[in-house]
Amino acid sequence: MDKIKMITPLVEMDGDEMTRILWTMIKEELLLPFIELKTEYYDLGLECRNETDDQVTVDSAKATLKYGVAVKCATITPNAARMTEYKLKEMWKSPNGTIRAILDGTVFRTPIVVKGIEPCVRNWEKPITLARHAYGDVYKNAEIKVPGEGRAELVFTAADGTVTKELIHEFKGAGIIQGMHNTEESIESFARACFNYAIDTRQDLWFATKDTISKKYDHTFKDIFAKIYEEEYKDKFEALGLEYFYTLIDDAVARVMKAKGGFIWACKNYDGDVMSDMVSSAFGSLAMMTSVLVSPTGVYEYEAAHGTVQRHYYQHLEGKETSTNSVATIFAWTGALRKRGELDGINELMVFADKLEKATLSTIEQGKMTKDLALITSLKNVQVLNSQEFIKAVRRELEKTL
Ligand code: NAP
Ligand code: MG
Repeated sequence: MDKIKMITPLVEMDGDEMTRILWTMIKEELLLPFIELKTEYYDLGLECRNETDDQVTVDSAKATLKYGVAVKCATITPNAARMTEYKLKEMWKSPNGTIRAILDGTVFRTPIVVKGIEPCVRNWEKPITLARHAYGDVYKNAEIKVPGEGRAELVFTAADGTVTKELIHEFKGAGIIQGMHNTEESIESFARACFNYAIDTRQDLWFATKDTISKKYDHTFKDIFAKIYEEEYKDKFEALGLEYFYTLIDDAVARVMKAKGGFIWACKNYDGDVMSDMVSSAFGSLAMMTSVLVSPTGVYEYEAAHGTVQRHYYQHLEGKETSTNSVATIFAWTGALRKRGELDGINELMVFADKLEKATLSTIEQGKMTKDLALITSLKNVQVLNSQEFIKAVRRELEKTL
């Protein structure tokens, strides 16, 4: 079989620890034998970030803007312990934060659904993709602990000096106050990213806020989504038979629990923080969750939702066998390859991505899986494989279909 040829390079962002080990195994076993892989390689491993004063992260994000599609390995976000462990010059910022700021994107997280790993919610048949607004609200708040009696006001001073005031509360005793904000620009790009992703993946879009209580703040989110939908997306949605559905957040939560899945749930920043952890753990495992950052201009960065699996890496360094789940990292690659194929019109690449995903899932469905899944599966006669054996088992399954 001839290897599949690519046209535009993928932006490849290598990473850290156990996922870096898996990254190489995936490339060697599952990609390079079948594809003339064209990537522009950026080493986002912490050592290289430190050597380049984190320039490599910025460069990789700029390359993503240039080429349109990136695939990223999990990376360490430095903390105090990492400062000494890696002898860092500075506590470099989270690469994901840096990349997100440059691409101005929305993150979509989707569970990988497989027979044998059943969601806790029995009626969920298809994945629920969670889209979280990643700017503002309580994450960029200003807070005051009120010591005692007094008057709290919201004050806005316009550029021309005009002052608008709103009474928050006349305090009779101690209390707390909080001020938060968002911008129309950020909400608009969040809305467009959600509508585009719904069209891209042919799924309905749900959005919810608490606009009945928050008549200006949350209502603005509702209004912006409604306006953009009417003006830019309604025709496209109708042509594809898709639905944009707005409701109150508490109603949305109740409906999600009764739904079959197969839609995108767009959430404000805090709701998305809370609900993504609920949805992912109810679907089974963080190791079975993919994540894609989509910019308002249609640039895509694919990754796994989990971290670098540090504990397993230390076992690996001690020469011990690990059983680390590579599924989400494999799906990051397939997501990126499929998108590259779509943009460059390379059908074979899209078909290959589908086949690799199928091979991965059927390996698990045959009872061959890593330890984390073996602990939660409903399948009988499970064979627990180590990190390498699992990837090799996927390769055997893949070769049957090529
Ligand atoms: P983690 O790497 O997600 O792992 C936490 C635990 O979850 C693991 O110890 C393991 O449990 C289980 N787990 C996660 N992924 C797994 C997989 N693929 N296969 C099997 N088990 C898996 O989170 P962390 O240990 O808190 O963070 C480690 C590093 O990752 C940190 O430096 C953090 O900054 C970074 N991080 C990066 C990203 C990213 O790049 N997107 C995201 C989150 C965290 P057991 O130990 O019980 O087996
Ligand atoms: Mg959280």
